[in-house]
Amino acid sequence: MIPGLIERITPDETLPASADVVVIGGGIAGVTTALYLAEAGVNVVLCEKGQIGAEQSSRNWGWVRQMGRDPVELPLTIESLNRWREIDRRFGIDTGFRETGITYVNRTRHEIAEFSAWADYAKDAGMASQVLDGQGLAKLLPGISPRYSMGLYTPNDGKAEPWKAVPQMAKGAQRLGAKIFETCAVRGIETSAGHLSAIVTERGTIRCERAVIAGGAWSRMFLGNLGVNFPQLKILGTAARIESAAQVTDMPVGGGDFAFRKRLDGGFTVAVRNANVAPIVPDSFRLFGDFFPTFLKSWRELKLRVNGQFVNELKLPRRWALDARSPFEMVRVLDPQPHEPFNRLILKTLPRAFPVFSDARVTHGWAGMIDATPDAIPVIGPVEKVPGLYLNAGFSGHGFGSGPGAGQLMSDIVRGTAPVVDPAPFRLERFRNTHSEAVTPVAA
Ligand SMILES: Cc1cc2nc3c(=O)[nH]c(=O)nc-3n(C[C@H](O)[C@H](O)[C@H](O)COP(=O)(O)OP(=O)(O)OC[C@H]3O[C@@H](n4cnc5c(N)ncnc54)[C@H](O)[C@@H]3O)c2cc1C
Repeated sequence: MIPGLIERITPDETLPASADVVVIGGGIAGVTTALYLAEAGVNVVLCEKGQIGAEQSSRNWGWVRQMGRDPVELPLTIESLNRWREIDRRFGIDTGFRETGITYVNRTRHEIAEFSAWADYAKDAGMASQVLDGQGLAKLLPGISPRYSMGLYTPNDGKAEPWKAVPQMAKGAQRLGAKIFETCAVRGIETSAGHLSAIVTERGTIRCERAVIAGGAWSRMFLGNLGVNFPQLKILGTAARIESAAQVTDMPVGGGDFAFRKRLDGGFTVAVRNANVAPIVPDSFRLFGDFFPTFLKSWRELKLRVNGQFVNELKLPRRWALDARSPFEMVRVLDPQPHEPFNRLILKTLPRAFPVFSDARVTHGWAGMIDATPDAIPVIGPVEKVPGLYLNAGFSGHGFGSGPGAGQLMSDIVRGTAPVVDPAPFRLERFRNTHSEAVTPVAA
């Protein structure tokens, strides 16, 4: 349902025989990597199996947020916000970014506790976040129900338009010389003397000494075929677009059971906050030990479900030859069904928080597969086992906001220049058992 709503690019047509760097995946992580590499004068090619931006990067809420982030990730998030503020001007594009601020509103003791800890941290870190009482909230957010007694407001957070931001960035990269291909799945890599020497796509081979996997939820599968274990699971996030005559703030607002963002097309993107479905799949068992501590922390927000996803994933091969159709060609765009009860529930929880939304009507519902790591921190760095190969994935539901910062960091690492932030927290090797098997690209 979603792909038709996303802005399109004009993809390049003729695959080059070689490149300095090939980026695999055309979501925000891959596209911003290509953008900053192209800006630095690198000859870069990006291959997307389906359509630019059509998976998570167009399905998200569009929040560009530092508030509430893990302190480990915060420097990257702050750097990313700096990139968002200048990206349109710098590349002559229109991502819809606005520095509106973001507010979380709290009502229950559990919700207040969730944000009080971060408010203390933000104060010590010299951040602009402000704690508001009920009166402060009523002034900042006209129309809010008086049931909310505390809020956390960060004036320099923002929002952008997911349906066009990444295609716009891709167009900017093309203007700087990047070649971008759609319907061009990368099946795997070739190596020479242990070093990456080419990537193999469904349309042919591109010789290169460096490649970046930015495959979102597919990254684990891609690396698995190379004998590298990237611990990553998928979580189903559901959202909807509503129409309403409500005159409310331009800034994104979230409470315990709702979230909304005013869109530039006149509607609102809404969702039930803290509510996701974790489909039980074969990897849930393989990665049980890695994810169990995370599950204990966040079980309140997750609904575990056995559904068609188990069988779908069981059907996809885990090993494949480079001269045969790969799993990436079997699913051009991962377009899961939304969890409908959430899109019915939001029509109740949203008007309870802002009664002016009582006329809300859902025009579109959709879902996206969030790719999560055990510590909810992405991997941005080399795959040590395969010299020349890099990974930029595992954004665990935060990657739209962090995308431009991550793309800049990945570009710095690939070029061997001073990194924009310390890359140490983002190493793949912080996880256990990533090096368990030999690298043996499979040939038919
Ligand atoms: C409902 C929902 C709400 C969210 N809300 C927010 C939010 O408000 N703020 C925020 O910061 N984040 C949010 N997120 C998370 C954010 O959208 C993601 O973290 C981010 O988009 C990830 O970008 P990505 O480039 O890593 O992955 P993706 O956007 O999924 O892109 C990966 C791409 O790689 C391609 N690919 C994979 N394998 C291959 C291959 N072998 N060959 C070629 N191409 C390949 C895929 O087709 C895909 O297009 C949300 C996510 C969801 C689902």
